[in-house]
Amino acid sequence: MTTVSPSTWLEVPADHPFGVAALPYGAFGTAADPSARIGVAIGELILDLAPVVRRLAPELAPAVAGPSLDSLLAAGPGAWSQLRALVTTWLTDDTHREHLEPHLVPATDAVMHLPFTVADYVDFYASEQHATNLGRMFRPGQDPLTPNWKHLPIGYHGRAGTVVASGTDIVRPRGQRRGADGEISFGPSQRLDIEAELGFVVGAGSRLGRPVSLSAFEEHVFGVCLVNDWSARDIQAWEYVPLGPFLGKSFATSISPWILPLAALGPARVAPPERTVPLLPYLDDAATPPWGLDVRLEVRLNGHVISRPMFDGMYWTGAQMLAHMTANGASLRGGDLYASGTISGERPDQRGSLIELSWGGSEPLELPDATTRTFLEDGDEVVITATAPGPGDARVGLGEVRGRILPAL
Ligand code: MN
Repeated sequence: MTTVSPSTWLEVPADHPFGVAALPYGAFGTAADPSARIGVAIGELILDLAPVVRRLAPELAPAVAGPSLDSLLAAGPGAWSQLRALVTTWLTDDTHREHLEPHLVPATDAVMHLPFTVADYVDFYASEQHATNLGRMFRPGQDPLTPNWKHLPIGYHGRAGTVVASGTDIVRPRGQRRGADGEISFGPSQRLDIEAELGFVVGAGSRLGRPVSLSAFEEHVFGVCLVNDWSARDIQAWEYVPLGPFLGKSFATSISPWILPLAALGPARVAPPERTVPLLPYLDDAATPPWGLDVRLEVRLNGHVISRPMFDGMYWTGAQMLAHMTANGASLRGGDLYASGTISGERPDQRGSLIELSWGGSEPLELPDATTRTFLEDGDEVVITATAPGPGDARVGLGEVRGRILPAL
């Protein structure tokens, strides 16, 4: 079933990724009023939400009053859907125009902040193609997928305190690594990489000891964002056995400023790839509406598109990742962020990391400006964008996550 998106009294082009079917939330300030506050993106404008809600829906004012989305995340799914319905009405019925117009700010005037306080951060490894590619490079001659891979979504706990807002410069990390000659040294990473991922933002928490089932996904997860999981492959390769990623990942993780509510992703839901191994009941989603997502990403390096990963090929869904993450009774907190892992497809131009695009550095990428890359150089800027199907012919956008590499200190 497709529904047609209502039109807004604002002049937003029908194909704009921030049309009225998207309505992502973020935290912003302006030069005129630098205080951080909640905004909703609509076209090239941002609706300053708190004063509008105070006037038109005062019962929801506490949920949108703060400097970030934290209170809104904590308000829970009832408030999320009530607010989204109201904002949609306000932007489509021009009787509310006079109340809204004074609170619309050009997006170009805004400075975007980290949209919420990140509680715990988990990163998964949910792309079969990415896991296979890395398995071939890191463990040649063995099965590329580890024996557990198709039985559970593999993940690790990352460092929440170094999740940074899009636009934050990334200082090249230093660390310990082992060279090709076996020598152990310490210095700036020589294999600095990106990972293009989708992030899931938990709003409503859960009780310790109570797993969250597949069907409760929408009660806990507020929305999605874009994630660039910067990765120092030389540090990672030396440190990761046997406890997994550590300092090769924890120096910085960038997220997009706009959180697209799950409610905007209805038309993007698709069946995930066919599972080739029977799943245990807590992960078996055959009988529930699927949470595969037709989200299409673009990765740009210094302005050039180097990859177009597609989330619809991900083996594990966000709902399965959540069910697994809580299967032992671990509780959720508002602001928990979990990322999908690098999104890589079958085709070489769908790989979501440079280690795959350059095959471990052995096949340098040629850029249109006649330079080549294996891994990131100082001054390089990476921008990841994404869109998904919306109602009718519309597409909904996730905006962008951006970051530039500065030399090691
Ligand atoms: Mn990752």
